Formats: sequence, C-alpha cells, structure tokens
Amino acid sequence: MGRRKKIVQECEKLMDKPENIRNIAIAAHVDHGKTTLSDNLLAGAGMISNETAGQQLAMDTEDDEQERGITIDAANVSMTHEYEGNNHLINLIDTPGHVDFGGDVTRAMRAVDGALVVVDAVEGAMPQTETVLRQALREGVKPALFINKVDRLISELQEGPQEMQERLLSVIRDVNELIRGMTDDMDDINDDWRVSVEDGTVAFGSALYKWGVSMPSMQATGMDFGDIIDMERNDQRQELHEATPLSNVVLDMVCEHFPDPIDAQPRRIPRIWRGDAESDLSEQMRLVDDDGEVVLMVTDISMDPHAGEIATGRVFSGTIEKGQELYVSGTAGTNRVQSVGIFMGGEREEVGRVPAGNIAAVTGLRDAIAGSTVSSIEMTPFESIEHISEPVITKS
Ligand code: GDP
Repeated sequence: MGRRKKIVQECEKLMDKPENIRNIAIAAHVDHGKTTLSDNLLAGAGMISNETAGQQLAMDTEDDEQERGITIDAANVSMTHEYEGNNHLINLIDTPGHVDFGGDVTRAMRAVDGALVVVDAVEGAMPQTETVLRQALREGVKPALFINKVDRLISELQEGPQEMQERLLSVIRDVNELIRGMTDDMDDINDDWRVSVEDGTVAFGSALYKWGVSMPSMQATGMDFGDIIDMERNDQRQELHEATPLSNVVLDMVCEHFPDPIDAQPRRIPRIWRGDAESDLSEQMRLVDDDGEVVLMVTDISMDPHAGEIATGRVFSGTIEKGQELYVSGTAGTNRVQSVGIFMGGEREEVGRVPAGNIAAVTGLRDAIAGSTVSSIEMTPFESIEHISEPVITKS
C-alpha cells in the first residue's frame, strides 16, 4: 500500500477518537513564516518530502497565490502525529496572512480550537499579530506561540545567549499583553490563556532551517541555547534539525496544549451559537455527539476542476455521509451530499464518513457559501462571523 493511502487510513481510524484530534490554525503577520512552518509540519508528518519543504509551499494551492507569493484561500490538511505513545489526528487550516483577507482568517478560526501564532523574532509582534490574536480569542480559540527566524538573531545579528533571551522574552511579553487585554472581559475563559516558556506554550526556532526548541524539548534533548548558538554559527544546521526537528517540537506542543473537540466545544458552542441552550441540539453540539443531528459550519468554498465546488467546514455534531439531504441556512429546501472527504496536502481524499469534531470537505452542497450552517434539521444558524480587518495599533 502506498504511503499516502496508509496516512488516509490512519486518519480515518483517528476521526472517531475526538480526544486524539486537534483542529488548529497557523496565523501570523505577513512574511513571519506561516507557510514555511506549515510545510515543515507537513514534511514532518510525511506528507511532502523533507527536501522540498520550504520551497514547495504545499498549502498555497491556487496558481495565482504561487505567483503572488501570498496565501489567499484557506487550505486545509490533515496529518497524524505520535505523542506520548498515542497517535493524533491534526487538522490544520491555513489562514491568509494578508490583512485584506481578515474575513477569511476569522472563518478559518471558526473551524479550529487552537491557534499557533507565528511571530518573527526580529520584527516582533506586528499589527496583524494583534488582529489574528483578536480573531482567535473572539472565537474561543486557544493560542500558543512560535517565535520564528531565531537563526537570524544568531547568524545575522550575532546576538549572544543573554541578548537573545531578552529579545525572545520581550516578544512573549508583548504577545501576553495583547492576550491579557483581549481576554479580560471574557467570563467563559477561566484558564489563563497567556503563553509561557515554562508551561511549554511557547516554542522558538527556524522554520527555514527546520529546527525548533521548547522547554519540554530542551529537557528531553539536553540542548540549551548555548548549544543551539554554537551549532547555528558553525553551519551545523542539518545536525541541529536532526537533533531537534521543528515539526516534532511544534506538533508535540499542539497535542499537549491545544484542546481536543470534547474540551473545546462546550466552551465554544455558547460563544458561536445563540440557539436554545437547553435543546437537544445544543447538547449534541457541546458533547461532540457523532450520533446526533448533522451540524456543519462551512468556513471555505473552493473549486475543484473535477468535483466542482467543495464546502469545507467543521462538523460540530452528527456524522456526515454521502447521500444525506441537508438544510443550508438562508436557503429553501435541501442539498444532497455527493461525497465527503478530508484534505491531504492540497488534495482532497474521499472517505466514507466524517464524524463530529473533525473538518470535512463536502461536495453537493450547491447552495452553501462560506459562513453557511448546514444541518440535518432546520436550526438557528451559527452567529455570523465578524470580520476584523482593521488592525488596531497599540504598540508604541
Ligand atoms: P508567510 O507570509 O507568513 O507565509 O511567510 P513565508 O513562510 O512565506 O516566509 C516569508 C519569508 O521569510 C520567506 O522568504 C522565507 O524563506 C523566510 N523565512 C521563513 N522562515 C524563516 C526562518 O526561520 N529564518 C529565516 N532566516 N527566514 C525565514
């Protein structure tokens, strides 16, 4: 059996274990390294070859995106990652990095429970960092931080361990200041969602040279900043990658710190759905009930030359299968599901069914648009997605 087929089968097995699922987005200010990091994760999970990661830009599926070098359509990919002896299914949604596409970023956030915020170590938190954080937190999506381009601090700026540490801490301080300001009045977020090195919600590294570290990874490998600086300066980047591969460090962080759907949906449903909180439907969505009514929130519509329009979105309840007749919010009548699938790299793979807690790619929903609520019974649609595209600049 081909490698790809094996991964699809593995994903299908894990789709029924919500506690092993992480739905995540990577969000960043433009050019901070979101695409390069995404490619690293795909290569780490065996989805694209290691050699081409960083050049292939697998998430940029549209031709004009490749030409323009920015990501404008939120692509989606599923991969597996072994953490503490358990295989996990990680559904990664790519978010546009350009501020004009703020609406797409928010839609992507609706589908996920965790947001990996990428910040360039040299530039620090920028206006779009603030925008994407605000979008994530409004949707009840938990943040973690990856500070990228640390190689530049070492090789270009020639910083020593002390200077480097100070700079990284100041990035973390800025990001936490933003998170604190945005979550202060959110009663449903009881936990402290600020990120910290000590609790492992911050990782550093170089997406370009494919190495990364976090507190847990440094404890596991015994490597400290001094070792990293030495290896980076001595041009031992390949060794550094092999000793502490970025994809492992980041995917471990994702599995450990981002909520699974069972954790996330009880908190997220009241935030994004204003229907009857006492209803069976509300309970089915909060509990990620795969036997419940089908509820899909469409976050993206893309065009496939063969299959036509593909609606991608988060299944909050029930199980989507071919042949189902589903209501589409704001339209009359029902649409019949022609096929269901998941995305692998830029391609869609058909699967038999996609249960609650996952991200599905569905054909046949001809009336659906990005933002539609698609369901097996008529229901109150999800809250419309607020577009935040104007960055609010608070940095002095
Ligand atoms: P995006 O706009 O956030 O998706 O950013 P990209 O992933 O396209 O990266 C923007 C630029 O930064 C590209 O030229 C990358 O090669 C470069 N880049 C990304 N990560 C790193 C890194 O870790 N170190 C260095 N030196 N350059 C990087």
